[in-house]
Amino acid sequence: MQTQLLQADAPGAIQTAAAILQNGGLVGIPTETVYGLAANALDGAAVAKIFAAKGRPMDNPLIVHISHFEQIYDLVREVPEAAKKLAEQFWPGPLTIILPKSARIPDEVSAGLDTVAVRFPSHPVARAVIDAAGVPLAAPSGNLSGHPSPTTAAHVMNDMDGRIEAVLDGGPCSVGVESTVVTLAEQPPRLLRPGGITLEQLRGVLGQVEMDDAVLHPLADGKCAASPGMKYKHYSPKANVIILDGSLEHYIDYVNTHAGDGVAALCYDGEDKALQVPSICYGGEEDCGEQARELFDALRELDEQLHAKTVYARCPEPEGVGLAVYNRLIRAAGFEVIDVG
Ligand code: AMP
Ligand code: MG
Repeated sequence: MQTQLLQADAPGAIQTAAAILQNGGLVGIPTETVYGLAANALDGAAVAKIFAAKGRPMDNPLIVHISHFEQIYDLVREVPEAAKKLAEQFWPGPLTIILPKSARIPDEVSAGLDTVAVRFPSHPVARAVIDAAGVPLAAPSGNLSGHPSPTTAAHVMNDMDGRIEAVLDGGPCSVGVESTVVTLAEQPPRLLRPGGITLEQLRGVLGQVEMDDAVLHPLADGKCAASPGMKYKHYSPKANVIILDGSLEHYIDYVNTHAGDGVAALCYDGEDKALQVPSICYGGEEDCGEQARELFDALRELDEQLHAKTVYARCPEPEGVGLAVYNRLIRAAGFEVIDVG
């Protein structure tokens, strides 16, 4: 299959993308979080193609994207007060809400669960495509399963060229990590995946919100994942990533003593000067928004530019948006953390 690369602001591009989606095809679309791989969410056969294109396990459900709040009433059995309050504060934006699903949701979308994940993105191109297609769009991140999520159209082309009908280029993503996922299908509400909307912000609206164990820890053997995506090693470059938890001084010491063939560093801006190995920086130490925006591109560069075999990464502060950065990086590292003091 020939994959068309469409510039989102070119005349007719949105309509071309919408027509592909209406005909059961797949389009890579920009959102404020990461690029998504979209299909008509109400067409089970179209949604099944997403799993094939990504090599995604069929038991990992997808997020359904809407462009007007009212569309949620068709997708879920009931809209509780808590969902309305969250939507009022954070939609459109990088927050996904899980609720019991309606009969409209094909099993392919919910991976057989009784719930559905719904998001109203703020990206103008995402909203325009949903509007033009006239249907909600199911979209996971537009990467091959296991790879870092795409934050540019070029990342999507790298993974999906020849596998999908088109990619809409709307420029780089402003948040850079996937949406915050919160479930309202149980009491109290629980954070399943941290993102651009922080746990503190959710608690500010809902009061009590629990954090799922899997946000910070590997899933215990045999334990069932609340959000099936939590089971798999994720966001991973080919290189073996190891997080070094400790001061900058101890980080530099450790990396320089372990310098050698294929060794590289993933550090904060400016720290590379002190390191005797090739390095990629992913934002300022104090700026977790910038770290979120740059992390996935940095993980791809470690493979493509440095051909790194072992990567020593600085450990993000798991607070605010930093919790999302930490959550992605520990998965990229397969939970390998060394305490360097
Ligand atoms: P991605 O494929 O990277 O866009 O991630 C979508 C995330 O939403 C994955 O972690 C899914 O497991 C999660 N998700 C989608 N639907 C549900 C659901 N009904 N219940 C729990 N988690 C869900
Ligand atoms: Mg993903």
